[in-house]
Order: sequence, then structure tokens, then C-alpha cells
Amino acid sequence: MEDIRSLEDLLDLQVIDSDLDRLFERRAGLPELEAYRVAHEELSGIEQQLSEMTERLREIYLASDKSDGELKIEEDKAHREEQRLYAGGLSARDSEYLRAEVEMLRRQISQREDQSLALMEEEEQLDAARAEREKERDAVAAEKGRIEEVVAASWQQIDDEVARLEVRKAEVVRLIDTDLIELYEQIRSSQEGVGIARLGEGVCGGCHLTLSAAEQVQAVKTFPPRCIHCRRILAPQ
Ligand SMILES: [Zn+2]
Repeated sequence: MEDIRSLEDLLDLQVIDSDLDRLFERRAGLPELEAYRVAHEELSGIEQQLSEMTERLREIYLASDKSDGELKIEEDKAHREEQRLYAGGLSARDSEYLRAEVEMLRRQISQREDQSLALMEEEEQLDAARAEREKERDAVAAEKGRIEEVVAASWQQIDDEVARLEVRKAEVVRLIDTDLIELYEQIRSSQEGVGIARLGEGVCGGCHLTLSAAEQVQAVKTFPPRCIHCRRILAPQ
């Protein structure tokens, strides 16, 4: 009788363990976790792009500063040379030489102005693109935060249920012989989490195969009774 009682307790333990297994599976397989992963990757990608845009803008600022500085030097020089030219008193040769130099400077200045303009245009476009990307970043970050809250709430719910079951499990485990629990755990680990099953009307509740009358008699002769097909522990009805 004592043996039969402990098999009934072991069946109770199996119910609790199966519930726990389902909870752990649910915890690891929440559909929001995939959505979280997608949002996380998207956010990382956007942040990478933003940092590249910021770096390019920094390069543009530096290039603009440099170009503006050089433009100022060239304009000052052109201005000085022009004044020398207008003041007169130069030989025809010097005057020709100076005129050629002023023309060259004016060409350089014109090219540099084009370059500055191109940099300004690029800066404007990049600024606008970055602002757009920042809006996307904020939206994805908000979505990620929302998913995080949903996951945390689901996990909390699951963890509360797990804690409740662990208390009941500890109560049941106390009633069962440790050797029997060890055997049960061993079978559970190789038989999809099911270590003990009910033997009802000659059918093993674990593998759902039938045991003949002779096989049933043979099975219950030993303790604990085991299914001849799947080797799970059997609790006779
Ligand atoms: Zn079986």
C-alpha cells in the first residue's frame, strides 16, 4: 500500500513538473521576444547609420572651415594685387605678369566658391536625412521599450506561477522516496519530460502502447512497475 501511495504522489509530482516545463517553455518562447530581437537589430542599424552621418557632417564642417579660410587668404591676395595693378607705375612686363596672376587667383577663388557651395548643399541634405533618421530611431526605441514592458509583465506572471508550483512541488517531493525520484528524473530526461504514467486498461499513458495481461502481471511484480515498451514508471489504476 505504501508503494502504491508513493506512485500516486509521484503522479502528482509529474503533473506539477509538466506544468513547470510548459511554463519554462512559454517563458523562453514568448512571441514578443522575436519582435524584441527585430526591434533591437533595427535600432542598432539606425544608430550605426546616425553615427556615420554625424562623422560625415564633422568632416564637412572641417572642410568648410578650411575652404573658407583659404578663400579669405586668396581674396585678400587678389585684392592686394589688383590694387598694385590699378596704382600703375609698373613696367609692361611686370604689369602683364601681375594681370596673369590676378586672373589665376580669380579662377582659384571661383573654384573654391563652387566647392564651398557643394559642401553647404551636402551638409543641408545630410542634416535633413539625419533628422529623419533620428525620428525613426525614436519611434523604434519607443516600440522596443513597449515590447520590453510586455515581456517583463509576461515573465513576472510566469515567474509567480513557477514560484507557486515550486512550493507545491517541495511538499510533494517530501512524501516520496529519494531513489524513486532519482529514477523518475532519469526517465524524465530521456522521455520528453514524462517519467511516470498511469496504466489504464492495459495501456501505458506515456507511450500509449498496450501491455498484454501477462505483461501487466509481470510489470507489477517489481517495484516500481515499468512499461515494457518505453520503460516509464507505471502507476496501476
Ligand atoms: Zn510506455
